[in-house]
Amino acid sequence: MKVIFATKNKGKLKEAREIFSKLGLTVEPLPEGVKSPEETGKTFLENAIQKATFYCKVLGEAVIAEDSGLEVDVLNGLPGVLSARFAGINATDEENLKKVVSELLENGVEESPARYVCVAVFCTPSGIGMWAEGKVEGKVITNPRGTGGFGYDPIFVPKGYSQTMAELPLEEKNRISHRGKALRKLAELVLLWLQKRH
Ligand code: IMP
Repeated sequence: MKVIFATKNKGKLKEAREIFSKLGLTVEPLPEGVKSPEETGKTFLENAIQKATFYCKVLGEAVIAEDSGLEVDVLNGLPGVLSARFAGINATDEENLKKVVSELLENGVEESPARYVCVAVFCTPSGIGMWAEGKVEGKVITNPRGTGGFGYDPIFVPKGYSQTMAELPLEEKNRISHRGKALRKLAELVLLWLQKRH
Protein backbone atom coordinates (compact mmCIF):
# COMPACT_ATOMS: atom_id res chain seq x y z
CA MET A 1 0.00 0.00 0.00
CA LYS A 2 1.19 3.51 -0.83
CA VAL A 3 0.95 6.39 1.62
CA ILE A 4 1.84 10.05 1.08
CA PHE A 5 3.81 11.68 3.89
CA ALA A 6 2.76 15.33 3.85
CA THR A 7 6.14 17.00 4.00
CA LYS A 8 8.73 18.53 1.70
CA ASN A 9 11.44 18.02 4.32
CA LYS A 10 13.81 15.23 3.19
CA GLY A 11 14.96 14.41 6.73
CA LYS A 12 11.39 13.89 7.94
CA LEU A 13 10.58 11.80 4.86
CA LYS A 14 13.57 9.54 5.50
CA GLU A 15 12.52 9.06 9.14
CA ALA A 16 8.93 8.21 8.14
CA ARG A 17 10.16 5.81 5.43
CA GLU A 18 12.33 3.93 7.91
CA ILE A 19 9.40 3.48 10.28
CA PHE A 20 6.57 2.73 7.82
CA SER A 21 8.47 0.61 5.29
CA LYS A 22 8.69 -2.06 8.02
CA LEU A 23 4.90 -2.36 7.66
CA GLY A 24 5.25 -2.92 3.93
CA LEU A 25 4.02 0.60 3.14
CA THR A 26 5.63 2.66 0.38
CA VAL A 27 6.04 6.20 1.69
CA GLU A 28 6.08 8.96 -0.94
CA PRO A 29 6.50 12.74 -0.49
CA LEU A 30 3.89 15.30 -1.56
CA PRO A 31 3.86 15.67 -5.35
CA GLU A 32 5.38 18.90 -6.69
CA GLY A 33 3.02 21.82 -7.10
CA VAL A 34 0.26 20.64 -4.76
CA LYS A 35 -1.34 23.48 -2.75
CA SER A 36 -0.99 23.61 1.06
CA PRO A 37 -3.93 23.97 3.42
CA GLU A 38 -4.24 26.82 5.91
CA GLU A 39 -3.19 25.99 9.46
CA THR A 40 -5.89 27.57 11.58
CA GLY A 41 -6.17 25.03 14.41
CA LYS A 42 -5.67 25.86 18.08
CA THR A 43 -4.01 22.50 18.77
CA PHE A 44 -1.40 20.30 17.08
CA LEU A 45 -4.11 17.66 16.60
CA GLU A 46 -6.49 20.07 14.83
CA ASN A 47 -3.71 21.21 12.49
CA ALA A 48 -2.53 17.67 11.75
CA ILE A 49 -6.15 16.61 10.98
CA GLN A 50 -6.60 19.68 8.73
CA LYS A 51 -3.45 18.78 6.76
CA ALA A 52 -4.15 15.04 6.54
CA THR A 53 -7.77 15.40 5.41
CA PHE A 54 -6.93 18.18 2.95
CA TYR A 55 -4.24 16.15 1.16
CA CYS A 56 -6.28 12.95 1.35
CA LYS A 57 -9.13 14.71 -0.49
CA VAL A 58 -6.91 16.50 -3.02
CA LEU A 59 -4.73 13.48 -3.84
CA GLY A 60 -7.21 10.62 -3.33
CA GLU A 61 -4.50 8.63 -1.50
CA ALA A 62 -3.78 7.56 2.08
CA VAL A 63 -1.89 10.34 3.87
CA ILE A 64 0.22 10.80 6.98
CA ALA A 65 0.48 14.41 8.19
CA GLU A 66 2.00 15.82 11.34
CA ASP A 67 2.13 19.05 13.28
CA SER A 68 4.71 19.84 15.89
CA GLY A 69 6.19 22.57 18.01
CA LEU A 70 7.71 23.74 21.27
CA GLU A 71 5.75 24.41 24.48
CA VAL A 72 7.49 26.58 27.09
CA ASP A 73 6.01 26.49 30.62
CA VAL A 74 7.03 30.04 31.62
CA LEU A 75 5.38 31.30 28.39
CA ASN A 76 2.14 29.42 29.21
CA GLY A 77 2.73 26.86 26.47
CA LEU A 78 3.80 29.29 23.75
CA PRO A 79 5.01 29.21 21.01
CA GLY A 80 2.93 25.97 20.67
CA VAL A 81 1.05 25.86 17.36
CA LEU A 82 2.68 29.21 16.51
CA SER A 83 6.20 27.65 16.62
CA ALA A 84 6.93 28.12 12.92
CA ARG A 85 5.70 31.75 12.94
CA PHE A 86 6.29 32.95 16.51
CA ALA A 87 8.18 36.09 15.42
CA GLY A 88 5.92 36.71 12.41
CA ILE A 89 4.41 34.97 9.42
CA ASN A 90 7.67 34.75 7.42
CA ALA A 91 10.03 34.60 10.40
CA THR A 92 13.21 32.53 10.17
CA ASP A 93 14.11 29.80 12.69
CA GLU A 94 16.67 32.19 14.17
CA GLU A 95 14.13 35.00 14.63
CA ASN A 96 11.68 32.62 16.31
CA LEU A 97 14.40 31.28 18.62
CA LYS A 98 15.48 34.83 19.52
CA LYS A 99 11.90 35.73 20.42
CA VAL A 100 11.69 32.79 22.84
CA VAL A 101 15.02 33.85 24.39
CA SER A 102 13.93 37.47 24.78
CA GLU A 103 10.58 36.45 26.29
CA LEU A 104 12.37 34.21 28.81
CA LEU A 105 14.60 37.13 29.79
CA GLU A 106 11.56 39.48 29.99
CA ASN A 107 10.04 36.98 32.41
CA GLY A 108 13.23 37.20 34.50
CA VAL A 109 14.37 33.59 33.92
CA GLU A 110 17.34 32.01 32.15
CA GLU A 111 15.65 28.66 31.64
CA SER A 112 12.21 27.07 31.76
CA PRO A 113 10.78 23.55 31.59
CA ALA A 114 9.61 22.91 28.02
CA ARG A 115 8.75 20.11 25.64
CA TYR A 116 8.60 19.32 21.96
CA VAL A 117 5.25 17.87 20.92
CA CYS A 118 4.29 16.15 17.67
CA VAL A 119 0.89 14.83 16.60
CA ALA A 120 0.81 12.53 13.57
CA VAL A 121 -2.41 11.62 11.75
CA PHE A 122 -3.08 8.84 9.22
CA CYS A 123 -6.17 8.93 7.04
CA THR A 124 -7.47 7.20 3.93
CA PRO A 125 -9.94 8.40 1.25
CA SER A 126 -12.38 5.74 2.52
CA GLY A 127 -12.66 7.63 5.82
CA ILE A 128 -10.28 5.71 8.11
CA GLY A 129 -8.45 8.01 10.53
CA MET A 130 -6.08 7.53 13.45
CA TRP A 131 -3.60 9.63 15.36
CA ALA A 132 -0.76 9.46 17.86
CA GLU A 133 1.22 11.94 19.95
CA GLY A 134 4.90 12.01 20.90
CA LYS A 135 6.63 14.32 23.38
CA VAL A 136 10.15 14.98 24.51
CA GLU A 137 10.46 16.75 27.85
CA GLY A 138 13.33 19.09 28.64
CA LYS A 139 14.12 22.74 29.19
CA VAL A 140 14.85 25.82 27.13
CA ILE A 141 17.90 27.97 27.87
CA THR A 142 18.88 31.50 26.84
CA ASN A 143 22.37 30.70 25.44
CA PRO A 144 22.02 28.86 22.09
CA ARG A 145 24.56 26.02 21.57
CA GLY A 146 25.26 23.67 18.67
CA THR A 147 24.85 23.69 14.91
CA GLY A 148 22.85 20.51 14.19
CA GLY A 149 19.09 20.11 13.86
CA PHE A 150 16.83 23.06 13.10
CA GLY A 151 14.29 25.40 14.71
CA TYR A 152 14.62 25.69 18.47
CA ASP A 153 17.21 22.88 18.80
CA PRO A 154 20.09 25.19 19.89
CA ILE A 155 18.11 26.26 23.00
CA PHE A 156 16.39 22.94 23.82
CA VAL A 157 18.08 20.58 26.28
CA PRO A 158 16.29 17.21 26.54
CA LYS A 159 15.79 15.76 30.05
CA GLY A 160 18.75 13.57 31.06
CA TYR A 161 21.18 15.32 28.68
CA SER A 162 23.64 18.18 29.15
CA GLN A 163 23.81 18.91 25.39
CA THR A 164 21.21 20.84 23.42
CA MET A 165 19.32 19.03 20.63
CA ALA A 166 21.58 20.91 18.19
CA GLU A 167 24.66 19.31 19.81
CA LEU A 168 23.36 15.72 19.69
CA PRO A 169 24.19 13.40 16.77
CA LEU A 170 21.23 13.13 14.38
CA GLU A 171 20.64 9.40 15.13
CA GLU A 172 20.36 10.21 18.84
CA LYS A 173 17.97 13.10 18.16
CA ASN A 174 15.79 10.88 15.98
CA ARG A 175 15.83 8.13 18.62
CA ILE A 176 14.42 10.38 21.35
CA SER A 177 12.47 12.88 19.24
CA HIS A 178 8.79 13.74 19.57
CA ARG A 179 8.32 13.07 15.84
CA GLY A 180 9.94 9.62 15.98
CA LYS A 181 7.78 8.71 19.00
CA ALA A 182 4.56 9.89 17.35
CA LEU A 183 5.36 8.13 14.05
CA ARG A 184 6.31 4.85 15.77
CA LYS A 185 3.07 4.88 17.81
CA LEU A 186 1.06 5.70 14.69
CA ALA A 187 2.78 2.86 12.81
CA GLU A 188 1.63 0.41 15.52
CA LEU A 189 -1.99 1.56 15.04
CA VAL A 190 -1.78 1.41 11.25
CA LEU A 191 -0.33 -2.11 11.53
CA LEU A 192 -3.28 -3.22 13.69
CA TRP A 193 -5.70 -1.78 11.12
CA LEU A 194 -3.86 -3.43 8.21
CA GLN A 195 -3.97 -6.80 9.99
CA LYS A 196 -7.69 -6.53 10.82
CA ARG A 197 -8.55 -5.34 7.32
CA HIS A 198 -7.64 -8.67 5.68
P1 IMP B 1 6.40 21.64 11.58
O1 IMP B 1 5.41 20.80 12.29
O2 IMP B 1 7.48 20.86 10.92
O3 IMP B 1 5.78 22.68 10.71
O4 IMP B 1 7.21 22.42 12.71
C1 IMP B 1 6.70 23.52 13.37
C2 IMP B 1 7.78 24.31 14.03
O5 IMP B 1 8.05 23.73 15.31
C3 IMP B 1 9.12 24.32 13.29
O6 IMP B 1 9.19 25.37 12.39
C4 IMP B 1 10.08 24.53 14.44
O7 IMP B 1 10.13 25.88 14.76
C5 IMP B 1 9.42 23.79 15.58
N1 IMP B 1 9.91 22.40 15.66
C6 IMP B 1 9.22 21.26 15.40
N2 IMP B 1 10.00 20.18 15.58
C7 IMP B 1 11.21 20.65 15.92
C8 IMP B 1 12.44 20.00 16.20
O8 IMP B 1 12.60 18.77 16.15
N3 IMP B 1 13.46 20.83 16.49
C9 IMP B 1 13.35 22.17 16.53
N4 IMP B 1 12.24 22.82 16.28
C10 IMP B 1 11.16 22.06 15.98
